[in-house]
Amino acid sequence: MTTMVCLTVDVEDWYDGMAVLGHGTSRPQGARSGLGGLAARLAQAGGTATVTLFVVGNYVSSVRSELAELVAGGHEIASHGPDHGRLPEDPAVLVDWLRRGRAMVEELVQLPVRGFRSPRFDIPSTVGLTGYRDLLAEAGFEYVSDTSLLGQRSPVRELPVLSRYRIPIGGGSYQRLAPGIVTSAAIDAAAGPAVLYYHSYDFGATLPGTGSIRSLAEAKQLVGRGRIAGVFSRVLSRYGSEACGHVEW
Ligand SMILES: [Zn+2]
Repeated sequence: MTTMVCLTVDVEDWYDGMAVLGHGTSRPQGARSGLGGLAARLAQAGGTATVTLFVVGNYVSSVRSELAELVAGGHEIASHGPDHGRLPEDPAVLVDWLRRGRAMVEELVQLPVRGFRSPRFDIPSTVGLTGYRDLLAEAGFEYVSDTSLLGQRSPVRELPVLSRYRIPIGGGSYQRLAPGIVTSAAIDAAAGPAVLYYHSYDFGATLPGTGSIRSLAEAKQLVGRGRIAGVFSRVLSRYGSEACGHVEW
């Protein structure tokens, strides 16, 4: 039996992400988001593949029409938080933060948003994994896709990103450095749905050229990025894709 693959895309602004890491680079006028390139690749693949877009709430207004088109194409919108910061440690603040992120994308799709992925896969130390899963349910989410697994006790469905030998191979940033056969082998060996993740800015967004790299952090972010969209298309044509929210449980 072929493994079910869930291709997912974190929809966020590259320049904002670098600013949060303390490496601000000014965004050029009229910079492309990459979502147009993603839509083109999905259209190119034809068929009925659907993907899940984990969208940062404060980015919605910048990419509203591009997201609306993807929603019209049957793709799922989920939450990637109201902003791309760390998860708040205080439980009450965290629930509010989670709810805000959900409301910001629900306003766009006018449908209940069921899934969540944290910006950096962190677990708030104040509540631990069990408490965190409870708070996700309290904030109205039905599933979560990160790198942790609580198992049967989790009140939300867990769809962890694909990893093999503890390496999170499901991330496009890893796939750009690994031969395609490594990704395929990990997908084929997956016990459940193989969740892979990419970033909206990997599909032709306007990014600084590698000639302008001024820091190691920037270099890590930029080198080999051009390969990721091709990897995405190869996985899509080989395995297809089902949105996370469509996975039965
Ligand atoms: Zn992110």
